[in-house]
This record gives sequence, structure tokens and C-alpha cells, in this order.
Amino acid sequence: MARRGEQSGTLLLEGLAAAPGIGIGVAVVWVRTEPVFPEYSLHPDRIETEIERFERAARDALAQIDAIRRPLVGVEIVDSILSTQAMILEDRQLRDDVARRVRSERINAEWALGLEMRRLDRLFAEMEDAYLRERRADVRDAARRLLLNLLGHEPDRLVELRGPAVIVASDLSPAEVSQLDRERVAGIVTEAGGRTSHTAIVATSLGLPTVVGVDGATARIGDGDVVVVDGDTGRVIARPSAREVENERRRERSRAALERAWLRHAVLPAETRDGRRVRLCGNVDSARDLEALARHGARGVGLFRTEFLYLNRSTPPDEEEQFRHYRAVVLGARPDPAVIRTLDLGADKVPAGLPRRSEANPALGLRGIRVSLARPEILRVQLRAMLRAAAHGRLRILIPMVSGIEEIRRTRELLEDVRLELEGSGAGLASSVELGAMVETPAAAAVADALALEVDFLSIGTNDLIQYTVAVDRENESVAYLYDGLHPAVLRAVRGVVDAAHAAGRPVAVCGELAADPAAAVVLVGLGVDELSMQAPAIPRVKARLRAVSLADARSLAGGLLALPTAREVGDRLGKAFRGSN
Ligand code: PEP
Ligand code: MG
Repeated sequence: MARRGEQSGTLLLEGLAAAPGIGIGVAVVWVRTEPVFPEYSLHPDRIETEIERFERAARDALAQIDAIRRPLVGVEIVDSILSTQAMILEDRQLRDDVARRVRSERINAEWALGLEMRRLDRLFAEMEDAYLRERRADVRDAARRLLLNLLGHEPDRLVELRGPAVIVASDLSPAEVSQLDRERVAGIVTEAGGRTSHTAIVATSLGLPTVVGVDGATARIGDGDVVVVDGDTGRVIARPSAREVENERRRERSRAALERAWLRHAVLPAETRDGRRVRLCGNVDSARDLEALARHGARGVGLFRTEFLYLNRSTPPDEEEQFRHYRAVVLGARPDPAVIRTLDLGADKVPAGLPRRSEANPALGLRGIRVSLARPEILRVQLRAMLRAAAHGRLRILIPMVSGIEEIRRTRELLEDVRLELEGSGAGLASSVELGAMVETPAAAAVADALALEVDFLSIGTNDLIQYTVAVDRENESVAYLYDGLHPAVLRAVRGVVDAAHAAGRPVAVCGELAADPAAAVVLVGLGVDELSMQAPAIPRVKARLRAVSLADARSLAGGLLALPTAREVGDRLGKAFRGSN
């Protein structure tokens, strides 16, 4: 995908936009120097000393991870990735397997570790589940750290960079990204990786503009080259001319100025020009996101994705730990409500500790409420924690991946059961908690009238509703051109759900990414949606756009779009309607 630019020496590369923002810096082409595994046989007398040397190296490696992790406590995803590495090193199984090889094959610890790691690497590489395959990087990282300790080397530290640097690497593990110093790193470019890799998630959470999937980046970009990383578009410019650098700086400045300008809207009411109020809430993936809510003018939490609490650990969080998280979210949302979703595990979100069968079509398989009802003991703990947290504010429970009303009824039964249990135990709990259903499947959209009668509110998850309505895998780059929230089938489904819910007197939210697109937000409001939930930083921009239109305009725009036959025509009409707007 790389091509030479117009000006001699300038190189324009394209990849996948993985973490937003524009970063400009000096390339540090980071090629991992792979340590050599020394291999030698041992005299039987030396075997126990060798195993002790190995155990010491494992303890040192664990202490290093602990030292890196300590200042990152609270950066939840980073913390959990380092925890995975620690878990691998603490695992008796791995340590015993290496010791067994040292004993039975009478070989040195580095050799035994190398053999064991190659076996594990093959095992992970063959796993069908993409999430588990990605854990391979954590296993490799842990082994590498252990090996460097055995060899008496200081592990590589990307932390000692002089900034602003753009890290260019064939691959960068999440743990490596987590060690980067935000003050000194301007951006990241990698050859490997996808938008949903943990590397991308950590980079986003650290605010580092990142482009992944850039073919040949380490060969084409030289150490010391100036590099521009555009994490919004997926463009990477190496060796730009002075004019291009100035252009990009200007773009970055106007991007920052726009964000500041939008931030002024944070304090204004979210309403159309003619006074129609729309509730704008924040999507929260961890307690870390709570701080951004008030600053960006969020009215509570519209979606807390609880499954992130379960990933990267071998045992699920217990009731107490969940209760503490949910209470923090409820308190963070006050005086507004917090919508907390029951586990949406499955598909691309699989926790380390839950054994599961491989599935040919995981997106159509055991995920969301299907997992929770298949493992009611897990759902019960979650519901108990939620009911207890509800005593501290306004908590609403949301059920993901609903495909029929039986799932709602079964969940309600469990909820009532758990409530009786808690009442008997004397625990503090709220007198009532609202229950809502996500509309993410065409089935849920089609029976929205019946669904609405079973719940207190509906929330449309457009990320999945698009995937299932258009039959387009949301993770698959090769069919990404079909993944379009403006597809007439999606707009009609939203209108149908809104009409059905309103006929039953229930409010409707949209909590998928579509809500964060200012033009699409106007269309959703025009279709009658009552609430939009998005990552908090997107709120001011959406609010600014809503405040610039009247409800009548939004309705007539949405009505016109519904009559169009293709996504392209919808996009063109919308583009025309907002030409020149932010
Ligand atoms: C959605 O599908 O729109 C949604 C909000 O849920 P998730 O992105 O977690 O699948
Ligand atoms: Mg979803």
C-alpha cells in the first residue's frame, strides 16, 4: 500500500486508523534484538542449581512487571495486560514444565524455556478464537522478559526515549505500549495489528495517535526520519517537506482548537434550536472513563460495558469487586442514571478464564445474554452486585444481544430470585431497578413492539445492528465498504424500533458508534430517538450540531432519507445537508 509521494524522499503510507489524533515526531525504528538462546547439556550435579537459577529469574521478571505496573494502576486495560504477563510467569504449570525439561533432558534453563515457549506459541497460533490468538503476544513478552533475566540482560526499555518520538515497529505488544512515556512519544506505527487489537486499545487509552497494518513500515522509514501519524485517517507521512510538516501542524492546531471550541458546548443544554431536549450520555468501559463525563457535559452513563472487568484474568471478579465498580459508576453518573449492561462476552471478547468450545461463527454464537443464561451462576453474581450498587444512585440494567423476549423473561426471573435472596440477607438494595433490552439483532428490531412491553427502555446497539442487518462482519476489513450505518435497512430498522417503543410508552436510546457522528446524530433525533450515548469526548461536537438544527428540520431530513434506496444516496444527501458544518 506504500507509495512514493510527489516530492522526492517523501513517503506516504497507508494503514488502519487505530487510535485518534495527529502525532509528529522523529522515527525510532524499533527492531527487537532477539536474544540468542544458549544451548548446552548439564552435568546431573548441576540440575537443581539450574532450576534454582530459573526460579530466581522468574522472581526477578515478576518484580520488574510489578515495578512497571505500579504507576499504571487505574489505567485499567494496561494494568490488566501486565497482570496477564504476571499470571503467565506465576503459573506453576509453565515453571514446572520448564523444570521437568531441565531434569529429563538435562539441558540448561534457556534451552528448556525456548522449547517450552515454542510449544506454547504453536498452541496459541492454532487457536480458532481471535482473542485467544492475540494472547500469544503476552506469552511471548513474558518469555522474553524471563529469558533476558536468565541471560542477565536488562530488558529493552522503550521508556528511555528522547521525544517527541514516533515508534515504528513491525509489531508492538500491548505491554510494550504500556511502558511508553506519553510525554516523549508522539505516535505509533506498526506493520502488524488490527483496529481491535489490544495494542490499539492501550494506545487509545493512553492518547497516542496510532496507525497499524502499515506494510513495510520498518524497511521504508529510517531511524531519525520525521514522521507524521494521522490516527484519524490511517495516513503516515515519512520524511515530509517542511511545508507538509507545517500543514500537518496547522491541521493539528485547528483540530485542537475545534475540540476546545466544542468543549464550550459542554455546559449548554443538549437541545435543538426549537427546544427539543435530547439526553446525551457517556459510554464507559472502565472507571477511568468516569472523570471525562462531567467535563464533556454527559448526562449520566448510557452504557457501561461490564465485560472489560472480566477480560485478561483467569477468575471472574467476585460480587464484592463488581459491586465496588458498579457503585463507582453509579456515583460517577449522579444525579443522572447509569445504564450498566450485563456481560456481553463472546465473539471477540473472551476472558482468559472461561473455557469455551470453538465456534465457526462466533458473532452468531454464544455471546451476550446467551452466555449469561447458559452460565446463570455468573449472571446471578452480577445481578446481586448490581442490585446492591443500585442503592447508591440510579442504576438501570441493560441486556445485550437479545434475540427474543424469552431471554428478557428469564433474566427478570433471575433478577427477582436474586432480589429475594438479598432481601433475606439484609443487604442494602434499591426498591426497584429498571430493566432494558439492547436492540442489536434484526429479530429484536422486528419484535420491538412485544419487547417494549417487557422492559422499561430500549437501547439500540448500532455497532451490532449494522453487522447483523447488513450481514457484514464488523471486524472484517475486506467487507468494510458495506459496513454503513446509513444503509436504508438500518435507518428503517431504527424508525421501526422507535415507533414500537413509543407506542408502548418506552424511551429509546442509541449507544453504538453511530450516535457519536454529529450528522447521524441529527438523523437519529429526527427518527425520534430520545437519548444518545457515546464516548464522552464526542459529546460536545454532537451537542453543537444538535443545537444548530430544529426538530422540524431533523424530522424532515430523516423522513427524506428514509425514502432513499441506497446508502450512497443517503450519504450524499446528508453530506449536502451539512456541507460546511463541523
Ligand atoms: C453496539 O453493538 O452498538 C454496542 C454498543 O455494543 P458493543 O459495541 O459493545 O458490541
Ligand atoms: Mg453490541
